[in-house]
Amino acid sequence: MSTAQGTFDSALLESEERRALRKAVGDLGRRYGRDYFTAAVRAGKHTDELWQEAGALGYLGVNLPEEYGGGGGGLAELSIVLEELGAAGCPLLLLIVSPAICGTVIARFGTDEQKRAWLPGIADGSRRMAFGITEPDAGSNSHRITTTARRDPDTGGWLLTGRKVFVSGVDIADATLIVGRTEDARTGKLKPCLFIVDRETPGFEYRRIEMELAAPEKQFQLFLDDVALPAEALVGDEDAGLLQLFAGLNPERIMTAAFSIGMGRYALDKAVDYAKSRQVWQAPIGSHQAIAHPLAQAHIELELARLMMHKAAYLYDAGDDMGAGEAANMAKYAAAEAGAKAVDQAVHTLGGNGLTTEYGLASLLTASRVGRIAPVSREMILNFVSHHTLRLPKSY
Ligand SMILES: Cc1cc2nc3c(=O)[nH]c(=O)nc-3n(C[C@H](O)[C@H](O)[C@H](O)COP(=O)(O)OP(=O)(O)OC[C@H]3O[C@@H](n4cnc5c(N)ncnc54)[C@H](O)[C@@H]3O)c2cc1C
Repeated sequence: MSTAQGTFDSALLESEERRALRKAVGDLGRRYGRDYFTAAVRAGKHTDELWQEAGALGYLGVNLPEEYGGGGGGLAELSIVLEELGAAGCPLLLLIVSPAICGTVIARFGTDEQKRAWLPGIADGSRRMAFGITEPDAGSNSHRITTTARRDPDTGGWLLTGRKVFVSGVDIADATLIVGRTEDARTGKLKPCLFIVDRETPGFEYRRIEMELAAPEKQFQLFLDDVALPAEALVGDEDAGLLQLFAGLNPERIMTAAFSIGMGRYALDKAVDYAKSRQVWQAPIGSHQAIAHPLAQAHIELELARLMMHKAAYLYDAGDDMGAGEAANMAKYAAAEAGAKAVDQAVHTLGGNGLTTEYGLASLLTASRVGRIAPVSREMILNFVSHHTLRLPKSY
């Protein structure tokens, strides 16, 4: 028997194939589970086994073109993969970066050679790519990035100089997609250009930032001083960088929404189970409305955020970059708020157990904050909606 929700999902949002994907990814995630994930994090390891199996099953490349080894789907499919792995306790941050940002940018704008070199490996998980845009002195204001590429007259290639910060997964990525600007566009409004920088390139230095974050993906500072790159390191066209960048940033926001929703769902499930069985007076604690209502609220807010994420993925996959931009920002905002609130309420529901290692929820308090900060903070989304959607004047 299908519930009303089930009918709505299948009629409007989720085809049979997508529901099958959701179920299969969920099964994979649960087979590994939270214990696997936290054991890897505690040992300072990466969740390579899960990554490789997800790649072999075709889940990491569901959004990439079939002719390059992908599944031929879109962000709707890839966001299902991240959401379901997160809901099973295994939120893989690098999915936001490698297939969603880098895979999309290369698939849409890369040269044939770049597509052949990168997409099959990104799709099957054998190659990974990190993404570096944030700079220490620019932060939320990407227009201020100063990483600069100048032509090397001797080789016809590029010399790249700059600093990046908080770049995730550099140690396990074969290359990093670096956002810079060319020398003739050094100041003023950002005219970006994107470079694929191999991890082994001489002069490409990275240093780990110690984070209070229980995640397998680590964050790094990058130091580039006249790093010599071949001409073919440039992605696509030097003059179309902004278009290329936005083609990657919208998927990043949609996937961060999936990251937050999956994590929120995981925490909420744990809290609901606990609230049903934990009894300290005559009835389970879940019968007290002070416990039940915030959990119900968390569920509603996660579902609402999910609808917005579906809308953003739908618009993006339909090729409406403009519409997707607004929807992706709103989805990321709503999901990050809902995810952080769900985790906070889940921890509270467990009382003292919310902070124990055994129940494993407390580490999500930090992890769930990531969605509120990265890739763009909640304030910058509120700024975007104020200025672009509501046409309010700008204060900065
Ligand atoms: C776990 C993690 C992973 C990350 N991974 C990557 C990655 O892979 N690649 C990458 O390039 N970057 C990555 N980042 C960086 C992330 O995108 C930045 O942290 C984010 O864009 C915010 O920049 P900032 O930290 O410099 O904050 P700042 O820009 O310094 O902002 C600090 C605070 O001031 C607020 N603020 C700033 N300007 C305004 C304004 N005009 N109005 C109102 N409020 C304002 C912000 O909202 C924020 O709360 C990651 C960050 C984290 C935490």
